[in-house]
Amino acid sequence: MSSEKIIIAIDGFSSSGKSTMARRLANTIGYRYIDSGAMYRAVTLYAMRHGMIGAGGSVDSAALIAALPDIHIDFKVEGDGQVTMLNGEPVEKEIRSLEVSSHVSPVAAIPEVRHALVKMQREMGESKGIVMDGRDIGTVVFPAAEMKVFCNAAPERRAQRRFKELSEKGAEVSYEEILANVNERDLIDMTRKESPLRQADDAVLLDNSEMSLDEQNDWLMNLYDSITGAKA
Ligand code: C5P
Repeated sequence: MSSEKIIIAIDGFSSSGKSTMARRLANTIGYRYIDSGAMYRAVTLYAMRHGMIGAGGSVDSAALIAALPDIHIDFKVEGDGQVTMLNGEPVEKEIRSLEVSSHVSPVAAIPEVRHALVKMQREMGESKGIVMDGRDIGTVVFPAAEMKVFCNAAPERRAQRRFKELSEKGAEVSYEEILANVNERDLIDMTRKESPLRQADDAVLLDNSEMSLDEQNDWLMNLYDSITGAKA
């Protein structure tokens, strides 16, 4: 394996399987994995808990921006995975709820929120050897990343996967609700002014609609090997 560490950026649509693939790759090659979506979710949970999200879903952005210095997000490694920490409290389960999912995209569209999180993400990647997934990692956070992937799959496939994942965890959600959430988040993410979701010019596209998890992992590993010359 090449000893030169690189930065790996994996972007794409909601529930396109980015995190699973990115986490597996990071474990295999001994890199740090960062789920940037978890950071936006943690900020959203903070806003919900502090009454900054109105009944109709409107965000009190002035209050949230003022509170940004009080929001500390970190990851605690636990076994093969990691737990998102919000001001020292483990919130991994809470941030995956459909309620957080339904408020996160408007929160993530606030420029000041993005600036604060992008700054933290860049610090995490300072010594390279990192796999980060999100929406703007290859375009904004690490435009010089050596490896960039952009993931997509049909919205129905993505909603099915999400539905299976949440139902297995015991959440009471319907497939229709999830499909609506996936479509709504995609639309907000693609049309926001600040760093909208788009494929970086130098990202490799992966449509995994018809791929198994193992096939996706192999595909990603092959790309990594070809970029780093690991098997040359
Ligand atoms: O990746 P995940 O679906 O958990 O991300 C939740 C939301 O956070 C996305 O729908 C998007 O609005 C926002 N996000 C973002 N930029 C990132 C990662 C996530 O705007 N880099």
